[in-house]
Amino acid sequence: WPGCGRRKVTHDQLQRILLDTPTSKHAEEWSRYYTAGPHLAGKNYSQALWTKTKWEEFGIKADIVSYDVYINYPVDHRLALLEEKKHDDGTSAWKVSYEASLTEDIIEEDSTSGLPDRIPTFHGYSASGNVTGPVVYVNYGTYQDFEDLVKANVTLKDKVAIARYGGIFRGLKVKRAQELGMLGVILYSDPGDDGDNTEEKGEKPYPDGPARQPSSVQRGSTQFLSFAPGDPTTPGYPSKPGAPRQPVHTAIPSIPSIPISYKDALPILKALNGHGPKADDFNKYWTRNTGLEYKGVHYNIGPTPDHVVVNLYNEQEYITTPLWNVIGVINGTIADEVVVVGNHRDAWVAGGAGDPNSGSAVMNEAIRSFGEAIRQGWKPLRTIVFGSWDGEEYGLVGSTEWVEEYLPWLSDANVAYINTDVSVRGTYLKAAAAPLLDNIIHAATAAVPSPNQTVPGQTVHDVWDKQIKTMGSGSDFTAFQDFAGIPSLDIGFDSGPGEPVYHYHSNYDSFYWMEKFGDPGFVYHRTMAQVLGLITAQLADLPVISFRAADYAHALDRYVKKVEDKLDEALSLSSEITTASLLDDDVYFELRGSTRNFNSNPNSTLTPSSVSSSSSAESFRTSLKRLHKALEKLTARAARLDKRADALREKLARHIPWWRWPAKLRLGFELRKVNTRYKYMERSFLFEQGLDGRPWFKHVVFAPGLWTGYAGAVFPGLVESIDEGDWVNAERWVDIIESRMRNAARRL
Ligand code: GLU
Ligand code: CA
Ligand code: ZN
Ligand code: ZN
Repeated sequence: WPGCGRRKVTHDQLQRILLDTPTSKHAEEWSRYYTAGPHLAGKNYSQALWTKTKWEEFGIKADIVSYDVYINYPVDHRLALLEEKKHDDGTSAWKVSYEASLTEDIIEEDSTSGLPDRIPTFHGYSASGNVTGPVVYVNYGTYQDFEDLVKANVTLKDKVAIARYGGIFRGLKVKRAQELGMLGVILYSDPGDDGDNTEEKGEKPYPDGPARQPSSVQRGSTQFLSFAPGDPTTPGYPSKPGAPRQPVHTAIPSIPSIPISYKDALPILKALNGHGPKADDFNKYWTRNTGLEYKGVHYNIGPTPDHVVVNLYNEQEYITTPLWNVIGVINGTIADEVVVVGNHRDAWVAGGAGDPNSGSAVMNEAIRSFGEAIRQGWKPLRTIVFGSWDGEEYGLVGSTEWVEEYLPWLSDANVAYINTDVSVRGTYLKAAAAPLLDNIIHAATAAVPSPNQTVPGQTVHDVWDKQIKTMGSGSDFTAFQDFAGIPSLDIGFDSGPGEPVYHYHSNYDSFYWMEKFGDPGFVYHRTMAQVLGLITAQLADLPVISFRAADYAHALDRYVKKVEDKLDEALSLSSEITTASLLDDDVYFELRGSTRNFNSNPNSTLTPSSVSSSSSAESFRTSLKRLHKALEKLTARAARLDKRADALREKLARHIPWWRWPAKLRLGFELRKVNTRYKYMERSFLFEQGLDGRPWFKHVVFAPGLWTGYAGAVFPGLVESIDEGDWVNAERWVDIIESRMRNAARRL
């Protein structure tokens, strides 16, 4: 039986190899290659080929898997501030008072910032259009920000929104603006959201210092992420050539949007001075981190008067074009237990040293290390699959299409998915995971020395805040976790307080920035390659799958309590319950660099029709008790399974001589049983019909928040029904969740 006999390379030896093989020098070399030129989705075939060839050199079999997907490339754009000047004779004429440059400065030391074929500033899946109208400042453009504006009677219809980046996924800002009849959306990066490293606080901007380069622009997708990721024309099935295509209007915007720098935003924000209410007149979320007062911005809401307008012109070419995932495989002894490790390869900019190439460099180093182990005679128990995804930036396209294509196999065999997007942009470890994987993150990080040796001998685990967030969205784990029910994790070194500003999706996310500010010496790259290697090995190479079912049961109990607390609060204070308060405090993932410590607005992302009818809320409180009841059973079963697993581990650790083979056979059956139960536990929480209004999302416990995109919501179907005060539907969701819990308990 696999794992019971003697193996050529023991797990301890494998761990040693995975710790000793990665080097900073190699990581730097991979980073240099991947950051040398543009590699937008569908335009990176040479990098796909290079990746395949490298992996084969490392000793891994690799293939390129292609899909025909619907995406856009930029053609032309313009953003100008126009003013109508009245003449004494009664006539008038429009004058351009500011023409936005819409380009990032060329910085001599930063070679990719000046490439002739560098990628224009634009939004993935944005609509073409040419619109002109007065401007309204909409803060972050969250659902609640727009609600505040509506409440204050600020006219939004037929106006152009200017919003700062941060808080939620950008596509949802455009979505809400569109729903409210706005003409278009301008998104800019406010340096106030950069923490302490700002010009205002005396720091020099990049490349002379750690502050934001004033011309830097955050590109990015404006797909309506929480509807469904992947190719918007093929929700739920793979974009193979000839596949039927669906209309896209529910999945991507119909109004144009454009990303700009704060340098380009200044004249527009200043044109708002003196018009309409001020951010100060609203709640504190409107003045939180505003950073351009010292440049003369008053943060007036507007709208600007009719004689001060912006012209926003955006032209995109939409085509259906191939993109390429590279899939590498190390075959294990157990055919139907598979661990998948992945990261995307496409980037918005020529460099992309942090996003995604720190992850690509780290994954390559981990693969090279596994190759070294293979050379020494190692063979894993479980199959390991590596994915270098294309098209993540447009909406997780490569990974989603792949999961949709291989769903039957993945459902059957995939034990876990590990994502390594943006492995390094600072030194603060950040992790999100399905609860089954929590203990693996703790174990792996505790075995890797930290580059920070202020206390000699300290590990990555020692210097970590030990917070593990729930899974939201914004990277390639989404289809695995939310569509296929595969426990997933995402891990990387984030930028934290006092660290240089990370120029997310900008030309300055470059090799030069990484080498000078992000990770000088590439030591955190090496460290993350070690962590990734150990996590993968622990999942793929130990006879008993290293899950803790009890951790899942306890997490579910915490989530139910969260819902109850909110209900209680609502009942006693008769305040509003909100989705936002049930989200992780910190806004998740790709925003980490651009918006530090942005807590979701506790006044909500969604405005519920409030818990006005307290009697239904009261009776609903009783319904939630059923979930606790179901959880009692699940918790007991989970503890029993973990105990069986521990007993097995203990037995396997003891040497079993050959004359005890019959006992060993029984051991083999027991091993198989335990592993199969662990493998399918997460699958129990799928609901085939999916969430209300977004059937692609099938997990009843985890989904991206409807109006956050990045931050994860727990029990999304239930919480959304409560938010709407729809107690009938909330009851329905309690039934659905309860039956899943009972089913999970039965299957354990
Ligand atoms: N990671 C990319 C972003 O945050 C893509 C996310 C998505 O479209 O889901 O912009
Ligand atoms: Ca699809
Ligand atoms: Zn990324
Ligand atoms: Zn990205």
